Amino acid sequence: MPPEAVSRPKPKMPHAQNNFTDLPKPVVPKTENRKLLRGQKAIVTGASSGIGRSIALALGHAGADVCINYVAGEDKAQAMVDELRGHGHTAFAYRADVSNEDDVAKMFQSVRDEFGTVDILINNAGLQQDAPIDQMTLAQWNKVISVNLTGQFLCSREAIREFKRRGVRPEISCCAGKIICISSVHEVIPWAGHVNYAASKGGVMLMMKSMAQEVAPFRIRVNSIAPGAIRTPINMQAWDTPEHYNELLKLIPYKRIGEPEE
Ligand code: NAD
Repeated sequence: MPPEAVSRPKPKMPHAQNNFTDLPKPVVPKTENRKLLRGQKAIVTGASSGIGRSIALALGHAGADVCINYVAGEDKAQAMVDELRGHGHTAFAYRADVSNEDDVAKMFQSVRDEFGTVDILINNAGLQQDAPIDQMTLAQWNKVISVNLTGQFLCSREAIREFKRRGVRPEISCCAGKIICISSVHEVIPWAGHVNYAASKGGVMLMMKSMAQEVAPFRIRVNSIAPGAIRTPINMQAWDTPEHYNELLKLIPYKRIGEPEE
């Protein structure tokens, strides 16, 4: 039987609107669904929109049981649960602020109650609060650091405690657990006007590498993804008009930005 393909809707802004009409049209890939993650339990933070939403749906379609964490967009999180359950997958939505230690501990407890354990953590929740450095308030600085960096620390710590407690189940996975930190190209590329965001992602980079070094002997894998521009609510002002979109494409050799699944 041919593998079921995950369908991807058309992007909101057609690629034809870019200024590079002499280039081949970019094609958004279709991924084969091979249920590689059957039996694994995943938490995706900030999963009710954008990149987290796409990751959570992809993990679900790959056979993992998924906890869809959200802090806003309860209706969207619930619709994702319904969609995954409609395909015969297991999912539930859980409201928790990743920067709140108590919320994070309760979320992991709730996932243990629901699924028995956690195998995969996707540290995706993040935000921007931009301002020129001389106008940036301490509240803007603290908010971005606490969600983007401290949130990833709190969730990773809970996940690693669970991975170490449980150890490897060879019938499920060759490792005790996996963490993927969603960072940004701005972990290494300076970003004027966004010092809180760039500092948070630079922090994620070394936190991820240090955690990976520390927990590798326990068969725990820690990695990160550092995306360039992806069309999501976080950076809407960079693609919301054809002018902005074309300006952005000047920085991108491939001449398209990333398109999350709707
Ligand atoms: P998004 O705004 O669609 O998603 C961010 C999600 O995080 C939202 O659902 C939001 O509600 C959630 N969130 C915010 N604060 C939270 C909190 N305290 N607790 C739990 N959830 C919280 O934007 P996105 O682009 O999908 O961003 C996802 C991740 O990707 C972020 O870490 C972002 O920094 C990173 N990223 C995005 C891009 C891009 O171009 N879109 C590029 C590089 C990195």
